[in-house]
Amino acid sequence: MTKKIVILPGDGIGPEIVAEAVKVLEAADNKFKLGLKFEEDLIGGAAIDQHGVPLANSTLEKCKAADAVLMGSVGGPKWDKLDAGIRPEKGLLKIRYEMGLFANLRPAILYPQLADASSLKPEIVAGLDILIVRELTGGIYFGEPRGIRLLENGERQGYNTYVYAEHEIERIGRIAFEMARKRGKKVCSVDKSNVLEVTVLWREIMQSLAKDYPDVELSHMYVDNAAMQLVRAPKQFDVIVTGNMFGDILSDTAAMLTGSIGMLPSASLSKDGCGLYEPVHGSAPDIAGQGIANPLATILSASMMLRYSLNETEAAHAIEVAVGKVLDKGLRSADIYSDGSTKVSTAEMGAAVVEALEAL
Ligand code: NAD
Repeated sequence: MTKKIVILPGDGIGPEIVAEAVKVLEAADNKFKLGLKFEEDLIGGAAIDQHGVPLANSTLEKCKAADAVLMGSVGGPKWDKLDAGIRPEKGLLKIRYEMGLFANLRPAILYPQLADASSLKPEIVAGLDILIVRELTGGIYFGEPRGIRLLENGERQGYNTYVYAEHEIERIGRIAFEMARKRGKKVCSVDKSNVLEVTVLWREIMQSLAKDYPDVELSHMYVDNAAMQLVRAPKQFDVIVTGNMFGDILSDTAAMLTGSIGMLPSASLSKDGCGLYEPVHGSAPDIAGQGIANPLATILSASMMLRYSLNETEAAHAIEVAVGKVLDKGLRSADIYSDGSTKVSTAEMGAAVVEALEAL
C-alpha cells in the first residue's frame, strides 16, 4: 500500500537538510519496501514569496490527506519585518493547529560518541535517553481571554489565561503512558500544582490514568524542581509529560544536555496518528547555503516518522543504527566536530548514512 509523505523543506538550511533525509528515506524504502510516495510543497518564507501567505490552503489540504509530513524549518531575516499575521512562523502554528497536532514528542538522546559535546560532565549525561511529551495545542499559549488592556488608573496590563480541559489532559497523558510502555516504563508528570489550580486538575487526571497502566510507574514533580533535576541528574527520567509552556522550556533545556541542536528530532502527533516531523532547530540563516548544516536531526525525524506514523519499526531502527555507525566512523558535521574526527558536509553526511543503511 502506498504511503503519502508531504515534504515541506521550508527556509534557510531547510532544503539542504531535508534533501538528505529524503535520500535516506528512499534508501529505506528500497531496502524495506515501504511504498513511500513523496510530494513536495512550500511553507514559511518560501510560501510567502510564492503565495503571499506562509501556508497555502492547498498545502494544508495535502498535508491533512497524507500519512505524514516531513518538514525542514521556517523563517529568516528576509521575512522578519513582515506583519506578524503573515510571518513564516504563522505557517507552523497554523499547520499544528489545523492538523490537531496536540502531542509533541522530543527525545533527548546523547549518542555515546558525542558525550564530550555536552556542557555537563560525561558521567552525568552518558547514555542519556529522555522523551519529553509536551502538550502542544492548549494551555496558556492558546487560552482566552488574552491581550493587553488599559486599567482605570491609565496603566496597561498584560494578561493570558492558563486553561486545560479534562479531555486535553487525558489524551496527552495517554500518549505519555503508551510511550513509556515501549521504553523504561516510567512517567514523570511535571506541574505546578502547589500554585496553579489548572495543574491540580492535571495531576488528578494523571493519577486516575495511571490505574489503566499498572506496568508504568507514575511520579510527579513541580516544574522548578524538574528544571533543576534535568541539569543535576537527568538520567533519572524516562518519559516526562507536561503542558505547553513548561514543555517548551524543559525540552530546550533537555536539548542542550545532548550538546548539539543539530542532532535533535521531534514529532508532533494528532489523534489519528498522522504527524508532522521536524528537527528541533530553526532555519539557521547564518549557515544557510554553505552545505555545512548537520542533517542528522532531520534524518532522525524521518526515522521517528517511520516509527510513529507509518508503524515501520524495523526501518526506523535501521536508520538509527546507520546514524550510530556513521558517528562511530568519526564523521562529524561542523557543529559536532572535535579534534581527531573527520569533518564532512551536509551532503557527505547524508550519503554516509545511506551507505551505512544499505550495508546493514
Ligand atoms: P536556529 O536553531 O536556526 O540556530 C541556532 C544556532 O544553531 C545557529 O548558530 C545555527 O547555525 C545553529 N544550527 C541550527 N541548526 C543547525 C544544524 N542543523 N547544523 C548546524 N548548526 C545548526 O535558531 P535561531 O537562529 O534562533 O533562528 C533562526 C530562524 O529559525 C528564525 O527565523 C527563527 O524564527 C526560526 N526558527 C524556526 C523553527 C522551526 O521552523 N521549527 C524553530 C526555531 C527557530
